[in-house]
Amino acid sequence: MTQHPGINPPPFSSIITDISENKIFLKETYCYPRGGGQQGDTGTITNMDLQTELLETLPGKSIIHPVTSIEGFDIGDEVLCTINQVRRNKNTTMHTVQHIVSAIANDMFSAETVGNQISEEYTRIDLLFPDRDKFNSEDLQQAVNDIIKSNKNVRIHNWERERILGHEQMRHTKFMDRIPDTVKELRVVEIVGVDLCPCGGTHVDNTSKLDEMSITNVKSKGAGKLRISYSLNNH
Ligand SMILES: [Zn+2]
Repeated sequence: MTQHPGINPPPFSSIITDISENKIFLKETYCYPRGGGQQGDTGTITNMDLQTELLETLPGKSIIHPVTSIEGFDIGDEVLCTINQVRRNKNTTMHTVQHIVSAIANDMFSAETVGNQISEEYTRIDLLFPDRDKFNSEDLQQAVNDIIKSNKNVRIHNWERERILGHEQMRHTKFMDRIPDTVKELRVVEIVGVDLCPCGGTHVDNTSKLDEMSITNVKSKGAGKLRISYSLNNH
């Protein structure tokens, strides 16, 4: 699939290849399917006569577009799919900020991100520390906001597994075991000078498009673990 912008994704045309129950399958899609802690896209799907509401897009062998009704839609129909931009933009900015938070927490406190959950209003990240007493919320927030303000480019690469696994700066490669061997190339996201990791999520192309963040809560999640929550200012 060719690149489609992470924010303000334009409507796109496609062809219905299959319909089952209230699910539509498309020849090509730019809808993000739920995964990696990020919500799936919503929106509308329209053919010549009718419009149906696209509920949360889900992952599958072929990407699943659950809709409120399939009445009047048929295999072979050319459709226009319109992604809800407000929801996508919020998820994209939240997710891109999450890369920075995880990278800086790793650099400053050697913390590993072991889970994350993104919503439009706030994001939670679970961090595992060698020594969590060293964690300082203000320092992390300041360092993340300094990067957001410094106009870092965000680049997307398609790299082969060996190149990814052999790269010294690469983070978060453990989950690659779960991706079938038949997938030879993976998407790698680089926030220049800040983060480099394989990721299938949606991203802004420059950190100037992000809002600054505020850490709103830090709580214990068991031995060595903290769950930090943040929101984005002006979001
Ligand atoms: Zn990502």
